[in-house]
Amino acid sequence: MIVAMQERAGEDQIQQVIEELVRRGFEVHRSTGEQQTVLGAVGARVDFDIRDIEVLPGVKQVHRISSPYKLAGRSFRPEGTVIQLRNGISIGGRDVVVMAGPCSVESRDQLFTTAEAVARAGARVLRGGAFKPRSSPYAFQGMGEEGLRLMREAGEQFGLLVISEVMEISQIELMAPYVDIYQVGARNMQNFNLLRELGHMRKPVMLKRGISATFEEWLLSAEYIMSGGNYEVILCERGIRTFETYTRNTMDISAIPICHKLSHLPVAGDPSHGTGRREKVAPMARAAVAAGADSIMVEVHSNPDKAVSDGAQSLYPKQFTELMAQLRMIAAAVDRAVA
Ligand code: PEP
Ligand code: MN
Repeated sequence: MIVAMQERAGEDQIQQVIEELVRRGFEVHRSTGEQQTVLGAVGARVDFDIRDIEVLPGVKQVHRISSPYKLAGRSFRPEGTVIQLRNGISIGGRDVVVMAGPCSVESRDQLFTTAEAVARAGARVLRGGAFKPRSSPYAFQGMGEEGLRLMREAGEQFGLLVISEVMEISQIELMAPYVDIYQVGARNMQNFNLLRELGHMRKPVMLKRGISATFEEWLLSAEYIMSGGNYEVILCERGIRTFETYTRNTMDISAIPICHKLSHLPVAGDPSHGTGRREKVAPMARAAVAAGADSIMVEVHSNPDKAVSDGAQSLYPKQFTELMAQLRMIAAAVDRAVA
């Protein structure tokens, strides 16, 4: 941490800051310039609130240098994390893994028709919500455990792994036999109790970015899971809220290379929630792969016009097949391959 003192700060004020830093366990290196004194405070305290120093008399600015997340930070595993799943699939290596399926599991027929189509097009993971975090309490809330049973069965039948959203602690154990990856939705990114419990599981978690989360907040949420011993976390950019209303969210493609720089965790892109509009999904999926995404999650529905949730952003199976062909070319251009 760097503490820059005000130009007119007196020696007593400087001493007070030094004493406070030492009291908090920092080693202090002082640089006394002609105009200004700057203090370098060394000591990896992660639970430190820099505002406690900012408010001391004579302090001009405080900069944190070390990140407040340790396990999620790139330096913890500079070589990157590769998450091994079943069927020889791994996320975070050279392969780009495509996850696809409906927003919600609605019926056996809807799920199986969609699963067959996405598997034939080359998806490796079937997505589908059984517990749905809907903005309105009157909207369809999901099929629950029956939906999970269908997900597993469709996964077995078409050779797909399964990802589905967990919304609360009581669903964690219930979901374990059905899913290969837990999805934590944007609305739950800061549900710290849920994250902590998922940290006790030995199953990968895909952590979506909250609609207004900074990178630091997002990585601290990953840290909650990892601090329980579960290091298998995938970060998923799914669009953030900005002043723009044309799209449902603003897909932050730059989040992909930024997360790769800040963290060793694999990064996924979800252009469906990222844009909310079907015709914008393919271009943003292509952009995400070009930007280095390790995985793409896309909503696909056998009959999007009749979907109970997110139909407007769900691809028709034919569009998804075309997209897969494009993603294979883009992956090759950035020295990757679609799994
Ligand atoms: C979803 O994947 O269907 C979903 C609800 O996503 P998000 O949490 O990103 O809104
Ligand atoms: Mn959805």
